[in-house]
Amino acid sequence: MKVAKNTVVSIAYTLKDADGNVLDTADADAPLAYLHGFGNLIPGMEKALEDRDKGETFEVVIPPEEAYGSFDDDLVWELDKDQFGELGEVEIGTQFVLETEDDQVLVTVAEIKDDVVIVDGNHELADETLFFEISVVDVREATPEEIEHGHAHGPGGVDDYDHDD
Ligand SMILES: [Zn+2]
Repeated sequence: MKVAKNTVVSIAYTLKDADGNVLDTADADAPLAYLHGFGNLIPGMEKALEDRDKGETFEVVIPPEEAYGSFDDDLVWELDKDQFGELGEVEIGTQFVLETEDDQVLVTVAEIKDDVVIVDGNHELADETLFFEISVVDVREATPEEIEHGHAHGPGGVDDYDHDD
């Protein structure tokens, strides 16, 4: 069976940045399982996997626009430290959901100055070109329930009993 919409694909992969640093991996004995064609992976990855066979291994270079996007200055906010009173100590790397006028954005504390805290809502891999080596460990037909939910169940996917959508 080939990778196509409505198949559940199990992949092993190594993700490196442009300098060759390993950012993430999934081993063949504990692969990532995802439902293809539902935007569960970054666009460049799903595109590269389309029509692949079980057992194939390949490399793909994914530019930011097909990965986690460009760095957006509009997603960086300077907040008064006073506003954090209730939250107690904030540290660099602390993550929380920021309520903006029209959205909720997951932000990370990037910098702390005397009385301001600079938070960043960009993905940590924004602006990065991603270098993947991917192996297709398995391809199977999705169940009607998986298609209804829009994600894979079972090993490597969303745990069947631990999600509510
Ligand atoms: Zn589900």
